[in-house]
Amino acid sequence: MADAAGTPMNLDSSETREMTRVPFTDLAAMTGEVWPEIEQDYLSCLLDGAYIGGPAVTAFERGWAAYCGADHGVGLGNGTDALLLSLTALGVGPGDEVVVPANTFIATAAAVVRAGATPRFADVSDDTLLMTADTLAAAITPCTRAVIIVHLYGQLPDMAGLAAIAQQTGIAVIEDAAQAHGAEWGGRRAGSFGAVACFSFYPAKNLGAFGDAGAVTTSRPELADEIRSLANHGRSHGHSHYHHDRIGTNSRLDALQAILLSGKLAHLEEWTERRIALASRYREHLGGGEFTGTGLKLTATAPLARHVYHLFVVRVPRRDSVRTALTRRGIQTGVHYPVPCHRQPPLRRLAEHPLPVAERAAGEVLSLPLFPHMTDRQVDYVCESLAEALRAAAVGSEAASAQ
Ligand SMILES: *Cc1c(COP(=O)(O)O)cnc(C)c1O
Repeated sequence: MADAAGTPMNLDSSETREMTRVPFTDLAAMTGEVWPEIEQDYLSCLLDGAYIGGPAVTAFERGWAAYCGADHGVGLGNGTDALLLSLTALGVGPGDEVVVPANTFIATAAAVVRAGATPRFADVSDDTLLMTADTLAAAITPCTRAVIIVHLYGQLPDMAGLAAIAQQTGIAVIEDAAQAHGAEWGGRRAGSFGAVACFSFYPAKNLGAFGDAGAVTTSRPELADEIRSLANHGRSHGHSHYHHDRIGTNSRLDALQAILLSGKLAHLEEWTERRIALASRYREHLGGGEFTGTGLKLTATAPLARHVYHLFVVRVPRRDSVRTALTRRGIQTGVHYPVPCHRQPPLRRLAEHPLPVAERAAGEVLSLPLFPHMTDRQVDYVCESLAEALRAAAVGSEAASAQ
């Protein structure tokens, strides 16, 4: 590739690399580690020409279900379809309500709307930023058919408390585990709690594909069959290719993605342990004296949870200036999420009661870099820089208010 001046275009110039001392994530490092192990299978599949479904997809589906502690896995096109098809398979549709947390990625609530049902927003815990048994109970009405419990940032909320409310009220539990591959609660893995659990393998997730991919896990065979059929134009197992039992869609997992995902699955525990170790290092530094009085707040780990740190989320005052200061020091950060779902234009009319915790958190949350190939030294540098950025932001705001 060449630009207009005829010089070769360098997408990652050494200048940019130098300026970005801590990227938000590093997907290429994971690919580099796994590629030698999958290269042969990947090339064989390319040359073989069977690109959708087939033995590589079945092998990944089985491996993924076993990893999650569920009986069945169904590979899908993405995590959003996993949510939509799960709702449809459970019979959720027009006239039904589904409780979702106010602090989540929009896909959780959007899937409910796409299924023809109405999302009802539950506020979240000020400590974990996850839904609680109390906020779930408060959002349930006689029309509620299901709850989507979101294991946001990489940890599960109090699953016993939430399941008890769901059981009392007779509503189905769906897990949105898109950020929680390998996370556990009380020794049980994400993907084994709900009637059905939804996963995304979007490249930046803890287990990520070379593009879009997703899956559901369930221990109910009829749900697995229904979702598999819905994702394949309503075809059913054992029927002809030209026989359609229901109106479905096209949301199948590609064989090349399945080969990569199986290859990466073999590394997932090791990468997760590294994420956890980096997070402990962050916690140690950020709990230190130089942060007292800065307004920094850590996100708590729920009791009994194995947090897999898809994201390391803190809350800071004057977030924009803190972010700018970190960017200047070559540190990429993220915000998950700056606008709560119920404040997005298409969903605004559905927010009936105040959701104070989610709303306040949206203005304060800041995701610090965390990825398996990050170094200890990079964590130290982010922490030093954050302490400086918080002090500078506080001085800046005092100066502004003195004027
Ligand atoms: C990524 C994500 C999704 C959507 O998954 P896609 O594969 O991008 O469609 C849904 N819910 C949550 C919480 C997510 O983080």
